[in-house]
Amino acid sequence: MSDVITRFAPSPTGHLHIGGARTALFCWAFAKRAGGRFMLRIEDTDQARSSDESAVGIMEDLAWLGIEWDDGPKLKLANGRTVGESARTIEGGYFQARRVSIYNRYFMQLVEQGKAYPAFESEEELAVIRKAAIAAKQTYRYDRASWNAIPTPAARLARIAEADAKGEKYILRLFAPHEEIVVHDQVLGDVRYAAGEMDDFVIRKADGFPTYHFAVVVDDETMGVTHVLRAQEHLNNTPRHVALQRALGFRTPIYAHMPLITNMDGSKMSKRDKAKSARLGLQQRLQKDTTITAETIAPRLGIEPAKLDAFLAKDNDAVEIAEKIAGYLGVPLPEIEVSDFRAAGYVPEAINNFIALLGWNPGMKLPDGKDLEKFDTQFLASHFAVDRIGKTSAKFDRNKLLSFNGDAIAAMDPGAFASRWLAWLNEFGPPGFAKRIADDLRDAAPRFEWLITTVRPRAKTFKDALKACEFMLRSDDSTAFDKSAVDKNLLAVEGSGLAILTEFRAKIALVEPFEPAPLHAAIDEFSKARNVGMGAVAQPVRVALTGSTVSPPLGETMAIIGKASTLARIDRCIQTLR
Ligand code: GLU
Repeated sequence: MSDVITRFAPSPTGHLHIGGARTALFCWAFAKRAGGRFMLRIEDTDQARSSDESAVGIMEDLAWLGIEWDDGPKLKLANGRTVGESARTIEGGYFQARRVSIYNRYFMQLVEQGKAYPAFESEEELAVIRKAAIAAKQTYRYDRASWNAIPTPAARLARIAEADAKGEKYILRLFAPHEEIVVHDQVLGDVRYAAGEMDDFVIRKADGFPTYHFAVVVDDETMGVTHVLRAQEHLNNTPRHVALQRALGFRTPIYAHMPLITNMDGSKMSKRDKAKSARLGLQQRLQKDTTITAETIAPRLGIEPAKLDAFLAKDNDAVEIAEKIAGYLGVPLPEIEVSDFRAAGYVPEAINNFIALLGWNPGMKLPDGKDLEKFDTQFLASHFAVDRIGKTSAKFDRNKLLSFNGDAIAAMDPGAFASRWLAWLNEFGPPGFAKRIADDLRDAAPRFEWLITTVRPRAKTFKDALKACEFMLRSDDSTAFDKSAVDKNLLAVEGSGLAILTEFRAKIALVEPFEPAPLHAAIDEFSKARNVGMGAVAQPVRVALTGSTVSPPLGETMAIIGKASTLARIDRCIQTLR
Protein backbone atom coordinates (compact mmCIF):
# COMPACT_ATOMS: atom_id res chain seq x y z
CA MET A 1 0.00 0.00 0.00
CA SER A 2 1.13 3.51 -0.75
CA ASP A 3 -0.28 6.67 0.79
CA VAL A 4 -1.79 7.80 -2.52
CA ILE A 5 -5.45 8.79 -2.19
CA THR A 6 -7.45 10.18 -5.12
CA ARG A 7 -11.04 11.26 -4.99
CA PHE A 8 -14.05 11.71 -7.22
CA ALA A 9 -16.28 14.38 -5.75
CA PRO A 10 -19.55 14.76 -7.64
CA SER A 11 -22.30 17.18 -6.70
CA PRO A 12 -25.52 15.16 -6.56
CA THR A 13 -27.61 17.54 -8.62
CA GLY A 14 -28.46 15.18 -11.48
CA HIS A 15 -27.18 12.13 -13.27
CA LEU A 16 -23.53 11.22 -13.76
CA HIS A 17 -22.25 13.09 -16.83
CA ILE A 18 -20.03 11.08 -19.14
CA GLY A 19 -17.21 13.59 -18.42
CA GLY A 20 -17.61 12.91 -14.72
CA ALA A 21 -17.25 9.21 -15.47
CA ARG A 22 -13.94 9.96 -17.19
CA THR A 23 -12.72 11.90 -14.13
CA ALA A 24 -13.72 9.02 -11.88
CA LEU A 25 -12.05 6.46 -14.13
CA PHE A 26 -8.76 8.37 -14.22
CA CYS A 27 -8.78 8.91 -10.45
CA TRP A 28 -9.51 5.20 -9.98
CA ALA A 29 -6.77 4.11 -12.39
CA PHE A 30 -4.23 6.47 -10.85
CA ALA A 31 -4.90 5.13 -7.37
CA LYS A 32 -4.84 1.50 -8.53
CA ARG A 33 -1.54 1.88 -10.34
CA ALA A 34 0.00 3.52 -7.29
CA GLY A 35 -1.35 0.85 -4.96
CA GLY A 36 -3.33 3.56 -3.19
CA ARG A 37 -7.00 4.25 -2.48
CA PHE A 38 -9.76 5.74 -4.59
CA MET A 39 -12.36 7.71 -2.70
CA LEU A 40 -15.87 8.89 -3.48
CA ARG A 41 -17.13 12.02 -1.76
CA ILE A 42 -20.59 13.49 -2.22
CA GLU A 43 -20.54 17.30 -2.44
CA ASP A 44 -24.08 18.10 -1.38
CA THR A 45 -23.71 21.48 0.29
CA ASP A 46 -25.98 23.15 -2.24
CA GLN A 47 -29.11 22.21 -0.35
CA ALA A 48 -31.56 23.45 -2.96
CA ARG A 49 -30.05 21.45 -5.83
CA SER A 50 -28.77 18.29 -4.17
CA SER A 51 -30.73 15.12 -3.58
CA ASP A 52 -30.03 11.72 -2.08
CA GLU A 53 -31.69 10.20 -5.11
CA SER A 54 -29.05 11.76 -7.37
CA ALA A 55 -26.27 10.63 -5.05
CA VAL A 56 -27.51 7.05 -5.22
CA GLY A 57 -27.98 7.29 -9.01
CA ILE A 58 -24.38 8.48 -9.44
CA MET A 59 -23.09 5.68 -7.24
CA GLU A 60 -25.09 3.10 -9.18
CA ASP A 61 -23.76 4.39 -12.48
CA LEU A 62 -20.19 4.23 -11.19
CA ALA A 63 -20.75 0.70 -9.92
CA TRP A 64 -22.28 -0.27 -13.26
CA LEU A 65 -19.15 0.98 -14.99
CA GLY A 66 -17.10 -1.07 -12.55
CA ILE A 67 -15.43 2.04 -11.10
CA GLU A 68 -15.60 1.00 -7.49
CA TRP A 69 -14.45 3.16 -4.61
CA ASP A 70 -12.35 1.95 -1.70
CA ASP A 71 -13.55 4.79 0.51
CA GLY A 72 -16.91 6.50 0.41
CA PRO A 73 -20.56 5.81 1.12
CA LYS A 74 -21.63 2.19 1.12
CA LEU A 75 -23.77 1.04 -1.77
CA LYS A 76 -25.56 -2.28 -1.79
CA LEU A 77 -25.72 -3.76 -5.27
CA ALA A 78 -28.56 -5.84 -6.69
CA ASN A 79 -26.39 -8.96 -6.40
CA GLY A 80 -26.06 -8.42 -2.65
CA ARG A 81 -22.44 -7.22 -2.73
CA THR A 82 -21.59 -3.89 -1.10
CA VAL A 83 -19.28 -1.29 -2.61
CA GLY A 84 -17.34 0.76 -0.06
CA GLU A 85 -17.63 -2.00 2.53
CA SER A 86 -14.07 -1.63 3.80
CA ALA A 87 -14.03 2.16 3.63
CA ARG A 88 -11.87 3.98 6.14
CA THR A 89 -13.86 5.50 8.97
CA ILE A 90 -13.70 9.25 8.55
CA GLU A 91 -15.06 11.71 11.10
CA GLY A 92 -18.35 13.02 9.67
CA GLY A 93 -18.39 10.55 6.77
CA TYR A 94 -18.41 11.15 3.04
CA PHE A 95 -21.42 13.42 2.57
CA GLN A 96 -20.41 17.07 2.96
CA ALA A 97 -23.79 18.14 4.28
CA ARG A 98 -23.16 15.92 7.32
CA ARG A 99 -19.75 17.45 8.01
CA VAL A 100 -20.88 20.95 8.97
CA SER A 101 -19.53 20.74 12.52
CA ILE A 102 -16.07 20.01 11.10
CA TYR A 103 -16.21 23.02 8.79
CA ASN A 104 -17.39 25.19 11.70
CA ARG A 105 -14.22 24.40 13.65
CA TYR A 106 -12.06 25.61 10.79
CA PHE A 107 -14.22 28.69 10.23
CA MET A 108 -13.69 29.74 13.81
CA GLN A 109 -9.97 29.08 13.56
CA LEU A 110 -9.70 31.43 10.57
CA VAL A 111 -11.73 34.19 12.25
CA GLU A 112 -9.66 33.88 15.45
CA GLN A 113 -6.47 34.21 13.44
CA GLY A 114 -7.74 37.28 11.61
CA LYS A 115 -7.86 35.47 8.26
CA ALA A 116 -11.61 35.46 7.76
CA TYR A 117 -14.47 37.72 8.81
CA PRO A 118 -18.23 37.92 8.95
CA ALA A 119 -19.93 40.18 6.42
CA PHE A 120 -23.45 41.48 6.85
CA GLU A 121 -24.44 42.94 3.50
CA SER A 122 -27.50 41.26 2.04
CA GLU A 123 -27.59 39.62 -1.38
CA GLU A 124 -29.73 42.51 -2.62
CA GLU A 125 -27.32 45.18 -1.41
CA LEU A 126 -24.41 43.39 -3.04
CA ALA A 127 -26.33 42.98 -6.27
CA VAL A 128 -26.87 46.74 -6.47
CA ILE A 129 -23.16 47.46 -5.95
CA ARG A 130 -22.22 44.77 -8.46
CA LYS A 131 -24.58 46.22 -11.05
CA ALA A 132 -23.17 49.72 -10.54
CA ALA A 133 -19.64 48.39 -11.02
CA ILE A 134 -20.63 46.65 -14.24
CA ALA A 135 -22.35 49.80 -15.48
CA ALA A 136 -19.17 51.78 -14.76
CA LYS A 137 -17.20 49.07 -16.58
CA GLN A 138 -15.24 48.26 -13.42
CA THR A 139 -14.45 44.80 -12.07
CA TYR A 140 -16.60 44.25 -9.06
CA ARG A 141 -14.67 43.69 -5.85
CA TYR A 142 -16.15 43.42 -2.39
CA ASP A 143 -14.88 46.53 -0.63
CA ARG A 144 -14.15 44.93 2.76
CA ALA A 145 -16.68 47.20 4.46
CA SER A 146 -17.51 44.52 7.04
CA TRP A 147 -13.82 43.84 7.68
CA ASN A 148 -13.17 47.52 8.30
CA ALA A 149 -16.28 48.00 10.42
CA ILE A 150 -15.23 45.37 12.96
CA PRO A 151 -11.50 45.77 13.37
CA THR A 152 -10.32 42.88 15.61
CA PRO A 153 -10.72 39.08 15.66
CA ALA A 154 -12.15 39.24 19.18
CA ALA A 155 -14.78 41.77 18.11
CA ARG A 156 -15.65 39.66 15.08
CA LEU A 157 -16.12 36.54 17.19
CA ALA A 158 -18.36 38.51 19.54
CA ARG A 159 -20.36 39.86 16.62
CA ILE A 160 -20.79 36.33 15.22
CA ALA A 161 -22.02 35.09 18.60
CA GLU A 162 -24.48 37.96 18.75
CA ALA A 163 -25.75 37.30 15.21
CA ASP A 164 -26.10 33.56 15.91
CA ALA A 165 -28.08 34.28 19.07
CA LYS A 166 -30.43 36.63 17.22
CA GLY A 167 -30.74 34.45 14.14
CA GLU A 168 -29.26 37.29 12.07
CA LYS A 169 -27.92 36.26 8.65
CA TYR A 170 -24.29 36.77 7.67
CA ILE A 171 -21.65 35.15 5.54
CA LEU A 172 -17.96 34.54 6.13
CA ARG A 173 -15.31 35.78 3.72
CA LEU A 174 -11.64 34.90 3.47
CA PHE A 175 -9.34 37.91 3.83
CA ALA A 176 -7.51 37.29 0.56
CA PRO A 177 -3.76 37.77 0.98
CA HIS A 178 -2.02 40.07 -1.48
CA GLU A 179 0.40 37.54 -2.94
CA GLU A 180 1.08 35.66 -6.14
CA ILE A 181 -0.23 32.11 -6.29
CA VAL A 182 1.37 29.55 -8.56
CA VAL A 183 -0.50 26.34 -9.25
CA HIS A 184 1.98 23.60 -10.14
CA ASP A 185 -0.25 21.59 -12.41
CA GLN A 186 0.98 18.18 -13.53
CA VAL A 187 -0.68 18.57 -16.91
CA LEU A 188 -0.54 22.29 -17.65
CA GLY A 189 2.69 23.20 -15.90
CA ASP A 190 2.92 26.25 -13.62
CA VAL A 191 -0.13 28.47 -13.86
CA ARG A 192 0.45 31.89 -12.26
CA TYR A 193 -2.14 34.10 -10.63
CA ALA A 194 -0.85 37.59 -9.87
CA ALA A 195 -1.17 39.18 -6.43
CA GLY A 196 -4.42 41.09 -6.07
CA GLU A 197 -6.36 38.96 -8.55
CA MET A 198 -8.32 37.23 -5.84
CA ASP A 199 -11.20 38.85 -4.02
CA ASP A 200 -12.38 38.16 -0.49
CA PHE A 201 -14.47 35.24 -1.62
CA VAL A 202 -17.25 33.69 0.45
CA ILE A 203 -16.34 30.60 2.45
CA ARG A 204 -19.52 30.18 4.46
CA LYS A 205 -22.97 30.86 3.06
CA ALA A 206 -25.82 32.55 4.90
CA ASP A 207 -27.48 29.16 5.42
CA GLY A 208 -24.48 28.03 7.47
CA PHE A 209 -23.14 25.64 4.84
CA PRO A 210 -19.61 26.01 3.51
CA THR A 211 -19.11 27.11 -0.07
CA TYR A 212 -17.75 24.55 -2.52
CA HIS A 213 -14.21 26.02 -2.20
CA PHE A 214 -14.08 25.70 1.55
CA ALA A 215 -15.57 22.23 1.82
CA VAL A 216 -13.27 20.84 -0.87
CA VAL A 217 -10.16 22.18 0.84
CA VAL A 218 -11.09 20.96 4.32
CA ASP A 219 -12.12 17.56 2.98
CA ASP A 220 -9.09 17.01 0.79
CA GLU A 221 -6.95 17.68 3.85
CA THR A 222 -8.90 15.77 6.46
CA MET A 223 -9.51 12.83 4.14
CA GLY A 224 -5.83 12.59 3.25
CA VAL A 225 -6.25 13.25 -0.48
CA THR A 226 -2.81 13.35 -2.11
CA HIS A 227 -3.73 13.82 -5.78
CA VAL A 228 -6.56 15.92 -7.19
CA LEU A 229 -7.37 14.95 -10.78
CA ARG A 230 -10.29 16.95 -12.08
CA ALA A 231 -11.59 18.72 -15.17
CA GLN A 232 -9.90 21.85 -16.49
CA GLU A 233 -13.03 23.88 -15.80
CA HIS A 234 -11.94 23.78 -12.14
CA LEU A 235 -8.48 25.21 -12.83
CA ASN A 236 -9.51 28.76 -11.98
CA ASN A 237 -10.84 27.56 -8.63
CA THR A 238 -7.48 26.14 -7.69
CA PRO A 239 -5.72 29.39 -6.62
CA ARG A 240 -8.55 29.94 -4.15
CA HIS A 241 -8.03 26.45 -2.86
CA VAL A 242 -4.31 27.05 -2.50
CA ALA A 243 -4.97 30.33 -0.67
CA LEU A 244 -7.30 28.52 1.72
CA GLN A 245 -4.76 25.74 2.27
CA ARG A 246 -2.16 28.35 3.21
CA ALA A 247 -4.57 30.16 5.53
CA LEU A 248 -5.53 26.92 7.26
CA GLY A 249 -1.96 25.60 7.46
CA PHE A 250 -2.77 22.61 5.22
CA ARG A 251 -0.52 20.90 2.70
CA THR A 252 -1.33 21.37 -1.00
CA PRO A 253 -2.21 18.17 -2.85
CA ILE A 254 -0.77 17.47 -6.29
CA TYR A 255 -3.07 18.85 -8.98
CA ALA A 256 -3.69 17.57 -12.50
CA HIS A 257 -6.42 19.24 -14.54
CA MET A 258 -7.84 17.22 -17.41
CA PRO A 259 -8.87 18.60 -20.78
CA LEU A 260 -12.48 19.43 -21.55
CA ILE A 261 -14.63 17.04 -23.56
CA THR A 262 -16.34 18.64 -26.54
CA ASN A 263 -18.73 17.67 -29.30
CA MET A 264 -17.19 17.10 -32.73
CA ASP A 265 -17.93 20.74 -33.65
CA GLY A 266 -15.92 21.94 -30.67
CA SER A 267 -18.92 23.03 -28.58
CA LYS A 268 -19.04 21.99 -24.96
CA MET A 269 -20.76 18.65 -24.46
CA SER A 270 -23.58 19.30 -22.04
CA LYS A 271 -27.13 18.49 -21.08
CA ARG A 272 -28.17 21.45 -23.23
CA ASP A 273 -27.40 19.39 -26.31
CA LYS A 274 -30.60 17.48 -25.65
CA ALA A 275 -32.64 20.68 -25.76
CA LYS A 276 -30.79 21.73 -28.92
CA SER A 277 -31.66 18.49 -30.73
CA ALA A 278 -35.30 18.49 -29.67
CA ARG A 279 -35.70 22.17 -30.58
CA LEU A 280 -34.24 21.60 -34.02
CA GLY A 281 -36.47 18.56 -34.59
CA LEU A 282 -39.58 20.47 -33.61
CA GLN A 283 -38.66 23.53 -35.65
CA GLN A 284 -38.15 21.39 -38.73
CA ARG A 285 -41.47 19.68 -38.14
CA LEU A 286 -43.30 23.00 -37.75
CA GLN A 287 -41.71 24.27 -40.93
CA LYS A 288 -42.66 21.18 -42.89
CA ASP A 289 -46.18 20.82 -41.63
CA THR A 290 -47.87 24.22 -41.70
CA THR A 291 -51.14 22.84 -40.34
CA ILE A 292 -49.58 22.68 -36.86
CA THR A 293 -48.21 25.47 -34.70
CA ALA A 294 -46.42 25.55 -31.38
CA GLU A 295 -49.73 26.46 -29.81
CA THR A 296 -51.71 23.56 -31.25
CA ILE A 297 -49.00 21.02 -30.61
CA ALA A 298 -48.31 22.00 -26.98
CA PRO A 299 -51.34 20.17 -25.51
CA ARG A 300 -50.46 17.04 -27.48
CA LEU A 301 -46.97 17.17 -25.99
CA GLY A 302 -48.34 17.74 -22.51
CA ILE A 303 -46.42 21.02 -22.23
CA GLU A 304 -47.83 24.40 -21.24
CA PRO A 305 -47.87 26.63 -24.35
CA ALA A 306 -45.91 29.39 -22.58
CA LYS A 307 -43.21 26.90 -21.58
CA LEU A 308 -43.00 25.52 -25.09
CA ASP A 309 -42.63 29.06 -26.45
CA ALA A 310 -39.82 29.73 -24.00
CA PHE A 311 -38.20 26.45 -25.00
CA LEU A 312 -38.37 27.30 -28.69
CA ALA A 313 -37.01 30.79 -27.96
CA LYS A 314 -34.02 29.18 -26.16
CA ASP A 315 -35.08 30.76 -22.85
CA ASN A 316 -35.50 27.34 -21.37
CA ASP A 317 -33.43 24.16 -21.91
CA ALA A 318 -35.42 21.79 -19.72
CA VAL A 319 -34.52 18.16 -20.35
CA GLU A 320 -38.10 17.06 -19.51
CA ILE A 321 -39.45 19.23 -22.33
CA ALA A 322 -36.78 17.95 -24.72
CA GLU A 323 -37.73 14.39 -23.83
CA LYS A 324 -41.44 14.98 -24.39
CA ILE A 325 -40.79 16.50 -27.80
CA ALA A 326 -38.39 13.73 -28.76
CA GLY A 327 -40.88 11.07 -27.69
CA TYR A 328 -43.63 12.70 -29.71
CA LEU A 329 -41.54 13.17 -32.85
CA GLY A 330 -39.80 9.83 -32.47
CA VAL A 331 -36.38 11.47 -32.74
CA PRO A 332 -33.46 10.33 -30.59
CA LEU A 333 -31.72 12.75 -28.23
CA PRO A 334 -27.93 12.68 -27.90
CA GLU A 335 -26.68 10.61 -25.00
CA ILE A 336 -24.84 12.79 -22.48
CA GLU A 337 -25.13 11.06 -19.14
CA VAL A 338 -23.99 7.56 -18.27
CA SER A 339 -27.60 6.52 -17.77
CA ASP A 340 -28.40 7.65 -21.34
CA PHE A 341 -25.69 5.41 -22.76
CA ARG A 342 -26.83 2.55 -20.58
CA ALA A 343 -30.43 2.90 -21.74
CA ALA A 344 -29.25 3.07 -25.35
CA GLY A 345 -27.63 -0.34 -24.99
CA TYR A 346 -23.95 0.54 -24.55
CA VAL A 347 -21.83 -1.75 -22.41
CA PRO A 348 -19.44 -0.62 -19.68
CA GLU A 349 -16.31 -2.17 -21.17
CA ALA A 350 -16.76 -0.16 -24.38
CA ILE A 351 -17.59 3.06 -22.53
CA ASN A 352 -14.57 2.73 -20.22
CA ASN A 353 -12.23 2.02 -23.11
CA PHE A 354 -13.62 4.94 -25.09
CA ILE A 355 -13.59 7.52 -22.28
CA ALA A 356 -10.09 6.45 -21.26
CA LEU A 357 -8.98 7.83 -24.63
CA LEU A 358 -10.57 11.23 -24.02
CA GLY A 359 -7.46 13.20 -23.23
CA TRP A 360 -5.19 10.25 -22.55
CA ASN A 361 -3.58 7.45 -24.51
CA PRO A 362 -1.14 4.72 -23.57
CA GLY A 363 1.40 5.85 -26.20
CA MET A 364 1.96 2.31 -27.43
CA LYS A 365 2.02 0.86 -30.91
CA LEU A 366 0.62 -2.37 -32.23
CA PRO A 367 2.84 -4.62 -34.38
CA ASP A 368 1.18 -3.12 -37.49
CA GLY A 369 2.28 0.36 -36.45
CA LYS A 370 -1.17 1.58 -35.41
CA ASP A 371 -1.80 3.14 -32.00
CA LEU A 372 -2.89 0.75 -29.29
CA GLU A 373 -6.43 1.81 -28.52
CA LYS A 374 -8.25 -1.29 -27.35
CA PHE A 375 -7.71 -2.20 -23.72
CA ASP A 376 -9.63 -2.97 -20.57
CA THR A 377 -9.67 -1.29 -17.19
CA GLN A 378 -7.06 -3.70 -15.83
CA PHE A 379 -4.68 -2.47 -18.51
CA LEU A 380 -5.57 1.11 -17.60
CA ALA A 381 -4.95 0.38 -13.92
CA SER A 382 -1.46 -0.83 -14.71
CA HIS A 383 -0.51 1.79 -17.33
CA PHE A 384 -2.29 5.03 -16.46
CA ALA A 385 -0.01 7.98 -15.74
CA VAL A 386 -0.63 11.70 -15.57
CA ASP A 387 2.25 12.54 -17.91
CA ARG A 388 0.26 11.31 -20.91
CA ILE A 389 -2.80 13.42 -20.18
CA GLY A 390 -3.23 15.95 -23.00
CA LYS A 391 -3.60 19.70 -22.64
CA THR A 392 -6.10 20.32 -25.41
CA SER A 393 -9.76 19.45 -25.41
CA ALA A 394 -10.86 15.96 -26.41
CA LYS A 395 -13.51 15.38 -29.08
CA PHE A 396 -16.34 12.99 -28.27
CA ASP A 397 -16.54 10.87 -31.39
CA ARG A 398 -19.85 9.01 -31.17
CA ASN A 399 -19.08 6.86 -34.22
CA LYS A 400 -15.95 5.61 -32.55
CA LEU A 401 -17.83 4.78 -29.36
CA LEU A 402 -20.45 2.94 -31.40
CA SER A 403 -17.77 0.94 -33.17
CA PHE A 404 -16.09 0.08 -29.82
CA ASN A 405 -19.48 -1.05 -28.55
CA GLY A 406 -20.13 -3.19 -31.61
CA ASP A 407 -16.73 -4.82 -31.13
CA ALA A 408 -17.48 -5.46 -27.47
CA ILE A 409 -20.77 -7.13 -28.39
CA ALA A 410 -19.06 -9.22 -31.06
CA ALA A 411 -16.44 -10.31 -28.54
CA MET A 412 -19.01 -11.70 -26.09
CA ASP A 413 -19.62 -15.41 -26.24
CA PRO A 414 -23.21 -16.17 -27.26
CA GLY A 415 -24.25 -17.18 -23.77
CA ALA A 416 -22.90 -13.98 -22.27
CA PHE A 417 -24.54 -11.91 -24.98
CA ALA A 418 -27.87 -13.65 -24.36
CA SER A 419 -27.91 -13.12 -20.65
CA ARG A 420 -26.63 -9.53 -20.79
CA TRP A 421 -29.06 -8.61 -23.54
CA LEU A 422 -31.97 -10.12 -21.63
CA ALA A 423 -30.92 -8.21 -18.52
CA TRP A 424 -30.87 -5.02 -20.59
CA LEU A 425 -34.27 -5.80 -22.15
CA ASN A 426 -35.62 -6.38 -18.69
CA GLU A 427 -34.63 -2.88 -17.66
CA PHE A 428 -35.02 -0.89 -20.85
CA GLY A 429 -36.98 -3.00 -23.33
CA PRO A 430 -40.73 -2.94 -23.99
CA PRO A 431 -42.64 -4.10 -20.90
CA GLY A 432 -42.78 -7.86 -20.64
CA PHE A 433 -40.67 -8.48 -23.73
CA ALA A 434 -37.63 -9.88 -21.94
CA LYS A 435 -39.82 -12.21 -19.95
CA ARG A 436 -41.65 -13.34 -23.04
CA ILE A 437 -38.44 -14.14 -24.86
CA ALA A 438 -37.05 -15.87 -21.84
CA ASP A 439 -40.24 -17.87 -21.14
CA ASP A 440 -41.36 -18.67 -24.67
CA LEU A 441 -38.02 -19.30 -26.14
CA ARG A 442 -36.00 -20.88 -23.41
CA ASP A 443 -38.41 -23.81 -23.46
CA ALA A 444 -37.82 -24.10 -27.17
CA ALA A 445 -34.06 -23.73 -26.89
CA PRO A 446 -33.25 -23.73 -30.62
CA ARG A 447 -35.56 -20.79 -31.28
CA PHE A 448 -33.75 -18.84 -28.62
CA GLU A 449 -30.42 -19.66 -30.21
CA TRP A 450 -31.67 -18.67 -33.66
CA LEU A 451 -32.81 -15.39 -32.23
CA ILE A 452 -29.44 -14.73 -30.61
CA THR A 453 -27.40 -15.72 -33.66
CA THR A 454 -29.70 -13.65 -35.85
CA VAL A 455 -29.80 -10.39 -33.92
CA ARG A 456 -26.23 -10.29 -32.63
CA PRO A 457 -24.41 -9.68 -35.93
CA ARG A 458 -26.86 -6.83 -36.61
CA ALA A 459 -26.25 -5.14 -33.30
CA LYS A 460 -23.76 -2.47 -32.33
CA THR A 461 -25.85 -1.86 -29.21
CA PHE A 462 -28.40 -3.88 -27.25
CA LYS A 463 -31.01 -1.51 -28.63
CA ASP A 464 -30.05 -2.46 -32.19
CA ALA A 465 -30.60 -6.09 -31.23
CA LEU A 466 -34.08 -5.19 -30.01
CA LYS A 467 -34.83 -3.36 -33.24
CA ALA A 468 -33.74 -6.39 -35.25
CA CYS A 469 -36.44 -8.51 -33.65
CA GLU A 470 -39.21 -5.99 -33.26
CA PHE A 471 -41.32 -8.21 -35.53
CA MET A 472 -41.59 -10.59 -32.59
CA LEU A 473 -43.19 -7.96 -30.43
CA ARG A 474 -46.41 -7.89 -32.39
CA SER A 475 -49.24 -10.29 -32.01
CA ASP A 476 -50.15 -12.14 -35.22
CA ASP A 477 -53.12 -9.90 -35.89
CA SER A 478 -51.57 -6.52 -35.17
CA THR A 479 -48.91 -6.10 -37.85
CA ALA A 480 -49.40 -2.81 -39.66
CA PHE A 481 -48.39 -3.18 -43.29
CA ASP A 482 -46.22 -0.46 -44.71
CA LYS A 483 -48.13 0.89 -47.71
CA SER A 484 -45.23 1.37 -50.06
CA ALA A 485 -43.81 -2.06 -49.18
CA VAL A 486 -47.21 -3.60 -49.93
CA ASP A 487 -47.62 -1.70 -53.21
CA LYS A 488 -44.20 -2.61 -54.44
CA ASN A 489 -43.91 -6.21 -53.29
CA LEU A 490 -47.45 -7.54 -53.26
CA LEU A 491 -49.75 -5.47 -55.43
CA ALA A 492 -47.52 -4.38 -58.32
CA VAL A 493 -47.65 -6.16 -61.68
CA GLU A 494 -51.24 -7.25 -61.18
CA GLY A 495 -50.60 -8.67 -57.76
CA SER A 496 -47.86 -11.07 -58.77
CA GLY A 497 -46.32 -10.87 -55.27
CA LEU A 498 -49.64 -11.76 -53.69
CA ALA A 499 -49.96 -14.75 -56.02
CA ILE A 500 -46.47 -15.93 -55.08
CA LEU A 501 -47.25 -15.48 -51.40
CA THR A 502 -50.41 -17.56 -51.69
CA GLU A 503 -48.62 -20.38 -53.48
CA PHE A 504 -45.63 -20.29 -51.19
CA ARG A 505 -47.88 -20.48 -48.13
CA ALA A 506 -48.99 -23.92 -49.24
CA LYS A 507 -45.36 -25.03 -49.61
CA ILE A 508 -44.11 -23.87 -46.22
CA ALA A 509 -47.12 -25.39 -44.48
CA LEU A 510 -45.43 -28.68 -45.32
CA VAL A 511 -41.88 -27.84 -44.20
CA GLU A 512 -40.70 -30.02 -41.34
CA PRO A 513 -38.77 -29.46 -39.18
CA PHE A 514 -39.69 -25.77 -39.22
CA GLU A 515 -36.10 -24.61 -38.90
CA PRO A 516 -33.90 -22.07 -40.67
CA ALA A 517 -32.06 -24.49 -42.99
CA PRO A 518 -35.11 -26.36 -44.40
CA LEU A 519 -36.96 -23.04 -44.69
CA HIS A 520 -34.11 -21.48 -46.67
CA ALA A 521 -34.07 -24.58 -48.85
CA ALA A 522 -37.82 -24.23 -49.42
CA ILE A 523 -37.45 -20.62 -50.57
CA ASP A 524 -34.59 -21.62 -52.84
CA GLU A 525 -36.48 -24.53 -54.40
CA PHE A 526 -39.67 -22.56 -54.83
CA SER A 527 -37.95 -19.61 -56.52
CA LYS A 528 -36.15 -21.98 -58.91
CA ALA A 529 -39.37 -23.82 -59.75
CA ARG A 530 -41.14 -20.51 -60.31
CA ASN A 531 -38.14 -19.21 -62.21
CA VAL A 532 -37.97 -15.96 -60.18
CA GLY A 533 -35.24 -14.49 -57.99
CA MET A 534 -35.14 -15.36 -54.28
CA GLY A 535 -36.13 -11.77 -53.48
CA ALA A 536 -39.35 -12.11 -55.45
CA VAL A 537 -40.36 -14.81 -52.97
CA ALA A 538 -38.72 -13.51 -49.83
CA GLN A 539 -39.96 -9.90 -49.94
CA PRO A 540 -43.72 -10.65 -50.10
CA VAL A 541 -43.29 -13.10 -47.22
CA ARG A 542 -41.29 -10.59 -45.25
CA VAL A 543 -43.95 -7.92 -45.67
CA ALA A 544 -46.61 -10.41 -44.58
CA LEU A 545 -44.67 -11.39 -41.46
CA THR A 546 -43.23 -8.10 -40.34
CA GLY A 547 -45.14 -5.38 -42.20
CA SER A 548 -41.94 -4.12 -43.83
CA THR A 549 -39.13 -5.21 -46.09
CA VAL A 550 -36.49 -5.19 -43.37
CA SER A 551 -35.94 -8.21 -41.19
CA PRO A 552 -33.22 -10.71 -40.41
CA PRO A 553 -32.80 -13.56 -42.92
CA LEU A 554 -36.19 -15.02 -43.71
CA GLY A 555 -35.52 -18.64 -42.72
CA GLU A 556 -34.56 -17.48 -39.23
CA THR A 557 -37.42 -14.98 -39.07
CA MET A 558 -39.98 -17.69 -39.86
CA ALA A 559 -38.38 -20.23 -37.56
CA ILE A 560 -38.30 -17.78 -34.67
CA ILE A 561 -41.93 -16.80 -35.14
CA GLY A 562 -42.85 -20.47 -35.47
CA LYS A 563 -45.03 -22.31 -37.97
CA ALA A 564 -48.45 -21.45 -36.55
CA SER A 565 -47.73 -17.72 -36.35
CA THR A 566 -46.00 -17.65 -39.72
CA LEU A 567 -49.05 -19.14 -41.43
CA ALA A 568 -51.47 -16.97 -39.43
CA ARG A 569 -49.61 -13.80 -40.42
CA ILE A 570 -49.49 -14.79 -44.08
CA ASP A 571 -53.22 -15.60 -44.06
CA ARG A 572 -54.06 -12.30 -42.46
CA CYS A 573 -51.97 -10.44 -45.05
CA ILE A 574 -53.67 -12.23 -47.94
CA GLN A 575 -57.14 -11.57 -46.51
CA THR A 576 -56.37 -7.93 -45.81
CA LEU A 577 -55.26 -7.31 -49.38
CA ARG A 578 -58.03 -9.22 -51.12
N1 GLU B 1 -18.10 18.89 -6.83
C1 GLU B 1 -17.38 19.35 -7.96
C2 GLU B 1 -18.15 19.03 -9.23
O1 GLU B 1 -19.05 18.23 -9.21
C3 GLU B 1 -16.01 18.73 -8.11
C4 GLU B 1 -15.06 19.33 -7.20
C5 GLU B 1 -13.63 18.92 -7.38
O2 GLU B 1 -13.33 17.93 -8.06
O3 GLU B 1 -12.82 19.59 -6.78
O4 GLU B 1 -17.85 19.59 -10.26
